Amino acid sequence: MPGVRGLFIPGPTNVPDAVRRAVDVPMEDQRAPDLPAFTLPLFEDVKKVFKSRTGQAFLFPSSGTGGWEAALTNTLSPGDKVLAARFGQFSHLWIDMCIRLGFEVDVVDAPWGEGVPVDIFAARLKADRHHKIKAVLVPHNETATGVTSDIAGVRKALDEADHPALLFADGVSSIASIDFRMEDWRVDIAVSGSQKGFMMPAGLAILCVSQKALAQAQDAQSRRCYFDFADMARVNKDGYFPYTPPTHMLRGLRASLDLLFAEGLEHVFQRHHRLAEAVRQAVSAWGLKLCAAAPHWQSDTVSAIYLPDGFDSNAFVRHAYKAYGLSLGVGLSKVAGRVFRIGHLGDLNELMVLTALSGVELTLRDQGVPFTAGSGVAAAIEHFHRTQPAQLAKAA
Ligand SMILES: *Cc1c(COP(=O)(O)O)cnc(C)c1O
Repeated sequence: MPGVRGLFIPGPTNVPDAVRRAVDVPMEDQRAPDLPAFTLPLFEDVKKVFKSRTGQAFLFPSSGTGGWEAALTNTLSPGDKVLAARFGQFSHLWIDMCIRLGFEVDVVDAPWGEGVPVDIFAARLKADRHHKIKAVLVPHNETATGVTSDIAGVRKALDEADHPALLFADGVSSIASIDFRMEDWRVDIAVSGSQKGFMMPAGLAILCVSQKALAQAQDAQSRRCYFDFADMARVNKDGYFPYTPPTHMLRGLRASLDLLFAEGLEHVFQRHHRLAEAVRQAVSAWGLKLCAAAPHWQSDTVSAIYLPDGFDSNAFVRHAYKAYGLSLGVGLSKVAGRVFRIGHLGDLNELMVLTALSGVELTLRDQGVPFTAGSGVAAAIEHFHRTQPAQLAKAA
């Protein structure tokens, strides 16, 4: 197929040229005397994206799933109880991992389309007088449904119950795109990955860990080896790794952080919000419905969109790919066949969003979904026009 293909899945995301050039480097000596001058500032700068001052960053050659495993096995002992909500494929998978690793999970099932049920968590934590719950798991952004949860609310519930459990957040599809405040929310472990907001190829699990969690790791009895925080920290302290690091990915991460800081994190978040809002305006103009059940849950990185009854979203996504080289996300698990997803995170601008939206419109038209062609694109254009960043509006 000639021309550019459209990658609008919620990860892996588009990799900016600067990052692609940065990873395309000759292999280097992982024990070189000048490596720490590169890695030590890198570890510190990663923390800025998590908004952590006192935590410690960890970079494991892995995908985000390995980050989940690192969080659990480093801090918990077999049989430990964790509190978690299930309302999408990713929250489901993290819970499944807990069970397979031998932890007891207090699962709160919530409707797919809603976020963490903070009130129910608050009640469970209050009722847990003997502090059997050792960790609370929160997916900051449930990628399957396009729902962002209230981590500050969960922190408040822990504080009000005077509960010492660790707070873990899955920020794989939010960190570096949606505001995340590790220090303010006193998150103990935040997990991310390279291939979403960090705009890199897949292959790095990126974590930030609080001092409280690091202290608890000394007593945690779960078996672990590859993902052991202590092994990693001992060698990271001098700027090296306990096994061969993917140095090209570290170079890519440097380039990614440089891009994020040059734009300014707050501007990155505003850009994601503005682009997401354009997608939402388009969805509404098409007469379709988001999976996210209320505005405060709508994600700025991914929109899961219901097709009308009688239309198959798998066929829809397949057609977009085959006919136009447009990659959209499929519906996962409970919402399979019913929703399709537009990923709008990472290296993205207005023109790319309009490409995605017009590609969706072409596909809607081809599949016979009733809607007015051009309506979503027009709504997005109006939104972009109305919300031009101030400096551009002034120059015009
Ligand atoms: C993508 C994703 C993961 C899994 O990450 P992998 O890199 O695929 O292992 C976990 N949680 C969320 C919320 C995600 O979006």
